[in-house]
Amino acid sequence: METDAGLDQLSSINYQLFSDYHTHPQGHRVQRYTPALLQPWADSARAIHLSDIAFTDHDRYHTGIDFGEIDRMREQNPDLHIRAGIELDNDPVHSPTGRKWIERNWDKLDFVLGSVHFLDRRDQMFDSIPVGAEQFKGCDIDALYADYFRRVCEIAATGLVDCLAHLDLIKIHGHRPKADIDAIVAETLDVIRSRDVTIELSTAGWRKPVNELYPGDRIIELAVKKGIPFTTASDAHSHAQLGDNFSRLAEKMSIFGICEVCVFEKHRRTARVVSGPK
Ligand SMILES: [Zn+2]
Ligand SMILES: [Zn+2]
Repeated sequence: METDAGLDQLSSINYQLFSDYHTHPQGHRVQRYTPALLQPWADSARAIHLSDIAFTDHDRYHTGIDFGEIDRMREQNPDLHIRAGIELDNDPVHSPTGRKWIERNWDKLDFVLGSVHFLDRRDQMFDSIPVGAEQFKGCDIDALYADYFRRVCEIAATGLVDCLAHLDLIKIHGHRPKADIDAIVAETLDVIRSRDVTIELSTAGWRKPVNELYPGDRIIELAVKKGIPFTTASDAHSHAQLGDNFSRLAEKMSIFGICEVCVFEKHRRTARVVSGPK
């Protein structure tokens, strides 16, 4: 039977995810990088057999980032690749300063994530749980989706990001568009492709009300068709969350036939094969 053959093929493929490119050592406030803050992340990586991790704190916490401490971590943990990164939000208040900081420190950074966390409200991330859901009340959800993806395109086109985080974050509270958004998504992916930006496969969505990978299946399918490369990510806000649900992610990747994952060194991208015969 065809199904059995498919399953057989799946079980004979071995996926070894080795990298997590979305982590928040500082959590939800400015915390200066120190060995005490960073070493638990290296220890967690080692414990779950990850060999390549990127620190990507929010740009509003850039004052906590210390490149000297990251170098020290590299010396102390020579078995790991530790990448200096940041998550550039579209925060109307803080991100203009964040952008300037990224431009100034571009050569020290390995990796920049681009994210859309803000819609029209300047003072609240729409993905705050549960309060961010208020922003969707009484709104035309189709219009919110269109607005969200327009902002994604904007950030992709800044030339300041290597990868887009949680590409369909707009679904976080479970609101779904009525209209078919294939055209909007395809346009967004075309911008991403033309800017040679990657997108992450983020397990964070499985921890959120929507309970679905970022991005969802249809977007992954379109991205694969367009040849857009991927990173793997947990969006961990604690070292205990590093590589969260990666075995489930591996299963998903095998279904889509995604067998390469990108890593970055000083913004230079390399694709590494993650699957092989058992
Ligand atoms: Zn984010
Ligand atoms: Zn994040």
